Amino acid sequence: MAEETVFSKIVAGEIPVEKLAETDRVIAFPDINPQAPVHILVIPKTSEYADVTALAAGDPELLAEMVAVAKQLAESHADGEYRLIFNNGAHAGQTVFHVHAHVLANIEQGKLVGF
Ligand code: AMP
Repeated sequence: MAEETVFSKIVAGEIPVEKLAETDRVIAFPDINPQAPVHILVIPKTSEYADVTALAAGDPELLAEMVAVAKQLAESHADGEYRLIFNNGAHAGQTVFHVHAHVLANIEQGKLVGF
């Protein structure tokens, strides 16, 4: 069984979040520690995949659905342009091992990374 994380608790409704988007397989909510004027997390409801590498190999359609949700959020919360970040591994800054996309928008010009 996949390890329980803060995101599996959010999916289970044990930790309340403001849902900004939801499909059968994906939910999105604001990052609790925003690093840009728009900073939204898009996660699959399944806890099966720890990072985007595993997700891309195991369920590429689910990854594509996360990207489509990210685009919709960028359109509703910004001008439709956005940065998508997946941290992969603790040394790359990953702290929650339930795959998630950081959707950043309205980023300061010239900054390569949002955080
Ligand atoms: P990462 O460092 O890529 O694993 O990203 C994990 C993100 O989850 C961080 O940006 C945290 O601020 C965010 N986070 C952790 N707990 C919560 C929560 N309860 N609600 C929203 N965002 C959270």
